[in-house]
Amino acid sequence: MSKVLIIGAGGVGSVAVHKCAQVPEVFTEIHLASRTKSKCDAIAASVLTRTGVTVPTYAVDADNVAETVALIKRIKPDLLVNLALPYQDLALMDACLETGVNYLDTANYEPPNEAKFEYKWQWAYQERFRQAGLMALLGSGFDPGVTNVFAAHAMKHHFDEIHVLDIIDCNAGDHGQAFATNFNPEINIREITQRGRYWERGEWVETDPLSWSMSYDFPEGIGTKKCYLMYHEELESLVMHIKGLKRARFWMTFGDQYLTHLRVLEGIGMTSIKPVEFGGQMIQPLQFLKAVLPEPGSLGPLTKGRTCIGNVMKGVKDGREKTLYVYNICSHEAAYAEVGSQAISYTTGVPAMIGAMMLLTGKWSGKGVFHMEQMDPDPFMAALNAHGLPWTEVEL
Ligand code: NDP
Repeated sequence: MSKVLIIGAGGVGSVAVHKCAQVPEVFTEIHLASRTKSKCDAIAASVLTRTGVTVPTYAVDADNVAETVALIKRIKPDLLVNLALPYQDLALMDACLETGVNYLDTANYEPPNEAKFEYKWQWAYQERFRQAGLMALLGSGFDPGVTNVFAAHAMKHHFDEIHVLDIIDCNAGDHGQAFATNFNPEINIREITQRGRYWERGEWVETDPLSWSMSYDFPEGIGTKKCYLMYHEELESLVMHIKGLKRARFWMTFGDQYLTHLRVLEGIGMTSIKPVEFGGQMIQPLQFLKAVLPEPGSLGPLTKGRTCIGNVMKGVKDGREKTLYVYNICSHEAAYAEVGSQAISYTTGVPAMIGAMMLLTGKWSGKGVFHMEQMDPDPFMAALNAHGLPWTEVEL
């Protein structure tokens, strides 16, 4: 018997609510709140049709701690799942502390006026969560999230030390649009246009944005794609927790058409987060761009193909060198048929549901602020297979 309050009715929130409704033995009550209540209602209607589960919905401004506190007091959930935007993380953690509720999210806090991807703001809550006897689980999406669990699984079952980690995120899907992002455009473009960064021999090395690339031959017929080195937030915690790590990098595939559009938009200042005056008011060019780009949710019925996200890990076991690749392949069309969303939202919403399930069933517990790789990977890995994100591991 457990009650969950999900905040955020976007692509990821929608998948998470649908998936929670498929596991009624864990999620006895699912409540959904977001800034725009009509979006919650549309998700609730789809969930009712597909699963027969009724999801009560609410409007909340998650930037306003008092508003969230009032909502939590009304619902009395066992866990708050934050699937709004990274800007809301700290306000929602504050609301959880004030009401004594556990917390889970899928993306690290980002200050609205600065594209910075760092855990320092959320790590600063460590002591307060510990003293309150509460758990905050950070980054329970795919990357971060499943990629952290893949690393923990490899560490537990396959290696004494992992020396080299390459996380490779491939979206081999096609939505047929000239330019669109698969999740929130503002967050996505902020992430992609920042400088690249990877970990080598104990320090961070910076690269110009998307200036390093490699070709990788993805399995199961996906084929060879060009991948670009980027900074990604899970690297920050993995280099602390994975034993023996000498180098850690993150790669993502982009098509030429996507990159050409991005470069033009960047070149003319449309991806800037510096406010400019327009029509007598200050606007952020990137926020304006988001308003004219397709809603990621609208890509669901249009996207064909598959994603392949996984970790290539090189290390030693019993004195022998080995390389292990652990990955998941997810079909955009199958995700859409099951829950009405494309695979990018699906691969994030499913691990958010599984992370919530780990906390609510007591399989994962702790007092303080935790990353996924600090928990036992086994029940999470088993749940991935059972709930739509089966994984494969091969020695290369
Ligand atoms: P969307 O933009 O589709 O959805 C965000 C939702 O949050 C919207 O419903 C939005 O409301 C709501 N929201 C925004 N601000 C507030 C606020 N102040 N109060 C209440 N609700 C608010 O984003 P996605 O679903 O694509 O992404 C959700 C989260 O998942 C993001 O943090 C993203 O970074 C993360 N993510 C993580 C991944 C991973 O693998 N770890 C991968 C992909 C995404 P409204 O509709 O009114 O705008």
